[in-house]
Amino acid sequence: MTEKCIFCEILAGKAEASFVYRDEAVAAFMDIQPVNPGHVLVVPVRHTAMLSELNEEDGMQMFRVAQRVAAAVRATSKLPSAGVKCEGVNFFLADGRAAGQEVWHVHLHVFPRFAGDGHHMRFSPNYFKPSTRQDIEQTAEKLREVW
Ligand code: AMP
Ligand code: ZN
Repeated sequence: MTEKCIFCEILAGKAEASFVYRDEAVAAFMDIQPVNPGHVLVVPVRHTAMLSELNEEDGMQMFRVAQRVAAAVRATSKLPSAGVKCEGVNFFLADGRAAGQEVWHVHLHVFPRFAGDGHHMRFSPNYFKPSTRQDIEQTAEKLREVW
């Protein structure tokens, strides 16, 4: 663990958290500042700052657990007492500062969405400029080159 990683502290039982699931590779606990009630973070147990450092097995397990979290969030929203509203689910992972990463321990956000919840993703101006197939194919070719 690097110095003062809050998620490592949580995983070590040194900081408070509300766990939903834990196995040898992956844990899922509630986000302290939920986009909507039911917002869960899925993290690798081994400290890993960036996605490029995450081993594929742990990445696979993270997605497997996130899928189960999504199912649990949907199921919970059917219980009148749970206070979770879920008409859809977003997965979000910020890898790097420019992508919005604030905690340097890989984490996959899983959170419920419902119409009118006020959460929005803002698109860059580039999004509204149509790309040509040639441009898109050229980028795909570069990606294949570095694969
Ligand atoms: P990101 O911007 O993707 O790095 O998101 C970091 C997330 O970690 C935010 O949604 C925070 O609310 C959440 N977070 C930070 N500290 C804690 C904590 N102690 N317990 C639970 N979630 C946390
Ligand atoms: Zn950590």
